[in-house]
Amino acid sequence: MSLSFILYREEIEGEIDKVRRALSQNEVSKEYRGYAWSHVPVPPHLRLGVAFSDVAYTYCPTMRYLFLKRQHVPRRETREAVRGRIVHDCILGLLKEAIDMSSTSKPKDLDIFNSLGVSREHIRKKAVTDINGAIQEAILSEDDAEQFIELADKILNYEYAMLVARVGYKISHTPRTTREGLMDEALPIVIEPSINAQSMGFSDQLTPDFIYTKTRAIGELKTGTQVPANRVAIAGYALACEYTQKIPIDVGFVLYVPDQQRHKVPIYEIDVFPVSNEYREAFIQKRNQSLNLIASGVEPPVCNECHPGDCRIYGRVDGG
Ligand code: SF4
Repeated sequence: MSLSFILYREEIEGEIDKVRRALSQNEVSKEYRGYAWSHVPVPPHLRLGVAFSDVAYTYCPTMRYLFLKRQHVPRRETREAVRGRIVHDCILGLLKEAIDMSSTSKPKDLDIFNSLGVSREHIRKKAVTDINGAIQEAILSEDDAEQFIELADKILNYEYAMLVARVGYKISHTPRTTREGLMDEALPIVIEPSINAQSMGFSDQLTPDFIYTKTRAIGELKTGTQVPANRVAIAGYALACEYTQKIPIDVGFVLYVPDQQRHKVPIYEIDVFPVSNEYREAFIQKRNQSLNLIASGVEPPVCNECHPGDCRIYGRVDGG
């Protein structure tokens, strides 16, 4: 479905409720909950640690990427990675700023129009610097750069308008509201919380993009087309969240920002789904496969269908 704005609880919560109702007929088994992992420790030979993103978002069909990365083969930036970063920084950056200012100022003193306007300019400046750097490194063409700046402006202007309207409306409608009340009503979301899941076999902190604490849903922001692997990645975040916070996460969502040139406002799509046994099992298998590969030390073969635009290692070693 299309989604007009990440904070429209009415839209997103409706979808989450539908999924939760469907899930009640097909419960997540106890052994697939992250909090059950304390009874199922990672086998010692798998305690090597792997970056969460290399398990969750690996695109390499033979897992050669993971092997070469551990050998410190230099990686390069791709056009898609730059685009993803710009979109990510603009949407999450502005949301974070709105959350920070709303949680630290009294609602009656909060000048959301001006303060968030200043933040928008900072984020835009950072995006332009990032884009110019990518031109200098020949990752982006001048045409790409123009397109990406236009996309950053489109997202920032839209998100700014939606956020100031959302926060401004809540203050105007409930002038006596507290900081907590404002956060609860206007910004009921946690952005990029840090989850330490080393004992699950990961070497780094996990940072899912969104957690809706009230509805116990976890989500990520992605550019490009919808792929089932993203649902499996969300299952990994849900397991880690359950493991560390001991609360069940039943619903996942991925907010997609597809290629868009025809509209003057950003178009978002959302995939909301149950974090089922099937996705949890698929994630655990991927994790074990990655850790087994590292433990084995055997170099995986090259995939013959690789493409330079898809891989950050392509062309850096013989055979890709
Ligand atoms: S070029 Fe292909 S086989 Fe090599 S690391 Fe990249 S995706 Fe994997």
